[in-house]
Amino acid sequence: MICSDCLINEGLKIEAERIGIRNNNQCTNCNSFSGKKLNKEIIQKIVDRFFRQGSIDNDYHLPIYQLSFVEYEEMIPFTEETRADLKLLKANSGINIAYHSPRLTDLGYTDISAEIEIIEHEAKEKLNVLIDRLFSKFKDKTLNTNTKLFRIRVNPNSPRTNAEFDTPPKEYIREGRLNNKETPIFYCSEDLNTCVHEVKSTVYDNLYLATFKTKQPLKILSLIDYNKELDLHEMENYISYISYLFRTDLDYNMCQKLAIRAKERGYDGIEYYSFFSKVIGDRKSNIALFGYPMKDGILSLKSVNRLRIEKIDYKLNFGPVQ
Ligand SMILES: [Zn+2]
Repeated sequence: MICSDCLINEGLKIEAERIGIRNNNQCTNCNSFSGKKLNKEIIQKIVDRFFRQGSIDNDYHLPIYQLSFVEYEEMIPFTEETRADLKLLKANSGINIAYHSPRLTDLGYTDISAEIEIIEHEAKEKLNVLIDRLFSKFKDKTLNTNTKLFRIRVNPNSPRTNAEFDTPPKEYIREGRLNNKETPIFYCSEDLNTCVHEVKSTVYDNLYLATFKTKQPLKILSLIDYNKELDLHEMENYISYISYLFRTDLDYNMCQKLAIRAKERGYDGIEYYSFFSKVIGDRKSNIALFGYPMKDGILSLKSVNRLRIEKIDYKLNFGPVQ
């Protein structure tokens, strides 16, 4: 039996201390009395959390490593202390680490994604055919009259002025995930925490929360509600492509093309997941409404509050250096 004190890497040691067995027996490996004891089952959990879960890539949200029960020496360039720990964990559990090879669809490749991204503006009809094919797999959602929607502004000039909470005037629009100057968008959510995460503020910012209600039913394209049964083959897995597009901050261009087409198709907005929804727990979505919903009379402003972040709790997962 080994213990948490046998481990050298700080992250692995902390993961082991969290779930190891507390007793005063002496470790037969390092002679410590105070380390948390690790049996085979606990080692498997630690290895899974540290090497698999701790290697999940931010862009693709897939682990770089996976657990393996095959006995072989894979040449993964872990740091020296991690290598030494893994050797010990392996000797006491039989669990090995191997590279995880993602499927192409996991990386956002589909039968339309390569083509859709290189089509130039002039070939709009061709682009629309592909985007419509993509949209056809997703379901519509209706926001009924009186649906509550939250929107946060960071450091507004005059929080007493209601118009501050509508989509910004064209001259102030900065390009965002779905909007550019030609396609103004009102970003909001049915979930307050999602709004707080999305504005990526610091504790030094002044946050103001506006609570709206819909004045009429709104037709939303839900890019989170997918008809998987319509997939005829693996490369038609468009939900993977959509999650890839909305996960990264690298390229807003394609998301903006989707927004333009959804507006042309008569939708009032788009529903989508954000990166932060992955760490909130229960997955909540963002809603992007086209144009100026306050000025256009689609939403009514119910109330405005100052919002102070009182406390944040982090739940951390250690992983190997990549
Ligand atoms: Zn020990």
